[in-house]
Amino acid sequence: MPEPNAFTGAELDRAADRRRRDTDWLAAQRADPAARAVVLGDAGVRVQGAALELVPLGDLPETAGEADERLLLLGVDATGPLFAFDENPPPEGRRAPLVGAGGMRGEAAPEAPGRLGLRHAAQGLPQADGGLVAYAAALLNWHRASRFCGVCGGRTVTEEAGMSRVCTVCGTHHHPRADPVVIMLVTDGDRVLLGRQSAWPARRYSTLAGFVSPGESLDEAVAREVLEEVGVHVGQPIYHSSQPWPFPVSLMLGFVVPYLSGEIGEGTDDELEDARWFTRDEVRDAVRDDSWDDEPGPGDGLLLPPRSAIARRLIESWVDG
Ligand SMILES: [Zn+2]
Repeated sequence: MPEPNAFTGAELDRAADRRRRDTDWLAAQRADPAARAVVLGDAGVRVQGAALELVPLGDLPETAGEADERLLLLGVDATGPLFAFDENPPPEGRRAPLVGAGGMRGEAAPEAPGRLGLRHAAQGLPQADGGLVAYAAALLNWHRASRFCGVCGGRTVTEEAGMSRVCTVCGTHHHPRADPVVIMLVTDGDRVLLGRQSAWPARRYSTLAGFVSPGESLDEAVAREVLEEVGVHVGQPIYHSSQPWPFPVSLMLGFVVPYLSGEIGEGTDDELEDARWFTRDEVRDAVRDDSWDDEPGPGDGLLLPPRSAIARRLIESWVDG
């Protein structure tokens, strides 16, 4: 079994069934003395030392009962009901920041005592806790950005204890979305094609990636993105693994895909600053560099993406054969 990707492995029953529509059952979950919450806000997730802190509901700031938009049921684990709580609900009329993520492109989250930004949470917390944090963050990010109906502009309110929202004007139900992103390692025998964006640390290269378009299969998205970004044609992609990426609500779908033809540099979009082939030896040397953070290490060789990223997993699997 391959090692699981960061941000996966939450150990809980999401109760994504009729229990969420049962008001008595929901009231019992909120009243359960064993109920706890994952607390998230702009600066990240609440932690105690190196562990995720699950805060008893009674220790949260007073909530507004059933209708409280800040408290969402994640599910039930071996201890009891588990909620997510937004400690910095953004004021209306302003673009909501992402929970614990800083900017969209990896800018650092604001620091606060006892809070851990999501990227660090993915790297530093136990596997199951990282999965829980990704679930809670993606759900809160969706709620923060979904307070008005996309159909009529009316106000929406949570239903199913946070698993959906409903418009108070036209009655449309809205469900949390995940944006599919294909991420692919292009291989050609003993070499792989990697690219870099100008905003990245010096010497970092990674796999190509892009959003799936409406009306497009994953295979088509892989081929189109590779052609747009670097100008080469690829064959049939082989699925590797997937990873939720809560910045804000992406789902990364990882593939390995063989190179067919074409020269790097014939791409038609400007997303990448550079792209090139790397040999297996070059990549193996880079894998040996165990730095976890975004700071370039010593030396002048290739710098790979952080270990929490599925891109790194794709690259390491290939190196390991
Ligand atoms: Zn509506």
